[in-house]
Amino acid sequence: KIVTVKLNKHCYDIVIGSGLIAQAVSKIKHYLHQKSSHQKIRLAIVTDKNVAAFHLNTLQTKLVENEIYTIPIIVEAGEQSKSFPILQNVIDKILVARLERGDSIIALGGGVIGDLAGFAASIIRRGMHFIQMPTTLLAQIDSSVGGKTGINSLYGKNLIGTFYQPQCVIADTDVLNTLPSREFRAGYAEMVKYGLINQPHFFEWLEKNWQKVFSKGPTQIEAIARSCQFKADIVTHDEHETGQRALLNLGHTFGHMLETATTYDSNRLIHGEAVAIGIILAHQFSEQLNLISPTVTQRIKAHFKTVGLPTQLQDIPGKLPDAETLMTFIAQDKKVSQNNLTFILTRALGQSFIAKNVSPNTVLTFLKQKLMKS
Ligand code: NAD
Ligand code: ZN
Repeated sequence: KIVTVKLNKHCYDIVIGSGLIAQAVSKIKHYLHQKSSHQKIRLAIVTDKNVAAFHLNTLQTKLVENEIYTIPIIVEAGEQSKSFPILQNVIDKILVARLERGDSIIALGGGVIGDLAGFAASIIRRGMHFIQMPTTLLAQIDSSVGGKTGINSLYGKNLIGTFYQPQCVIADTDVLNTLPSREFRAGYAEMVKYGLINQPHFFEWLEKNWQKVFSKGPTQIEAIARSCQFKADIVTHDEHETGQRALLNLGHTFGHMLETATTYDSNRLIHGEAVAIGIILAHQFSEQLNLISPTVTQRIKAHFKTVGLPTQLQDIPGKLPDAETLMTFIAQDKKVSQNNLTFILTRALGQSFIAKNVSPNTVLTFLKQKLMKS
């Protein structure tokens, strides 16, 4: 399946399907054909240790067979790789190999690799060609679409980065076979989020078809393609997040708060899990503001439970800080303007909206209540 992302200055395809890594050479040639067809293709493959162990060889063999010059650059797996030292390392390797502006960087990995390699591609020689080959469900439906790249700073996640669109995205669903099921579920939370933003039918479809989405086959591919299409549409209308793109943050204000709160725990939440709880909290908060009835939240909660996602603060192992401390994590988040918080709230199942004037006190009171129930 192909989803096209249409932007003002640039259009690119997201190709989704089985067996795409094996066919990568023709895809890569096709999407890089804009440059002289006689020039030899040279590329750097940025990946992490886990992904390299499973999938690098398949890709590299195909490329080498086709006389495509490749340099693999393998970094440690995990969020820590979205840092200045690792970025510098990646850049140095690319420069030492004398890759030039017309050469390409492939990101083969999850969101961490996509963000890191995309950022490197955007700044090396003021921009090299870039191809995303996302290998987690989250990366296939979310982080590889939309062109946000970046690394973390000591002062917060994703604070240093660029908007930089790839030449194409190649999402091979076969690689999901090796993805740990916990990572798959976490990505699935973002898929459910797309339904809850403004497509109640997609949410209902997921409720019925989730088992097929969790296993290899056409339904899984369809779910990924529908998710990409949804994100692509939002990005088309709002490439630089001045408006509706903020809807994608549904569940993320509370979610980031929980990720920050559990960063140093040995059994910390991963992003999609924090988002799952964040989505439920955003709905409960909407209940409290008399926007929706509890039945809406209960339905979503039931679905998350069915697939094995956490749904409440009580599902988090370890002790959470008090509500005041949690609030400071929300205030550090970049969505804060002065004394008002921007939240994504909801009016009904699958009808979210951007609320710009939420008072921090209301949130604090809400969090206190939620913590008391534990
Ligand atoms: P990740 O890249 O850390 O991958 C999760 C884990 O799965 C890692 O340990 C990785 O090594 C492993 N893995 C990846 N693919 C695998 C495979 N096929 N088989 C086996 N193991 C595999 O995490 P993620 O959840 O993909 O992405 C999270 C990152 O994405 C965060 O840094 C977040 O900020 C970023 N993000 C960016 C955007 C964006 O728009 N740019 C959007 C959402 C999230
Ligand atoms: Zn997210």
